[in-house]
Amino acid sequence: MTATITQPNLVPLRSGMYEMPDSIDGTPRLYGQRCTSCGEIFTTTHREYCAYCGKQTMESRRLGTIGIVQTFTIVHQELKGSLMETPYVIARVQLTDDRVQIQTVLCDVEPNDVTIGMQVEICLKQVDEDEDKQIVVSFFFRPATRS
Ligand SMILES: [Zn+2]
Repeated sequence: MTATITQPNLVPLRSGMYEMPDSIDGTPRLYGQRCTSCGEIFTTTHREYCAYCGKQTMESRRLGTIGIVQTFTIVHQELKGSLMETPYVIARVQLTDDRVQIQTVLCDVEPNDVTIGMQVEICLKQVDEDEDKQIVVSFFFRPATRS
């Protein structure tokens, strides 16, 4: 008989944005779309027509997990209802494989250590716990440890 380790349930803060890994240490995969006619990639998930060539040839795609910081801002003002503790960094990250940009919060880095051109990777972090003791998670990007 094999012992089964029961993982606490992971619940996304916002559903439908990424494929959930088996554990919080796993790698989430953001959903996107690719036009099979012209090859353009989008960070959207429900686009019917390609914004570049106009064809109705969109397929869903899991986006890459590594990117480069294009620009960023340090947030000092706490927003009402926000789960984020200030100061934190919001960055525009260009995904290396897909050449599309996404806006994300950076984690595991001091705001003053963030630089343009920094390589970052997607990860999951607990942001809350719900009433059923399930772990509420969100995706973030952190300085890259894999490449
Ligand atoms: Zn297209």
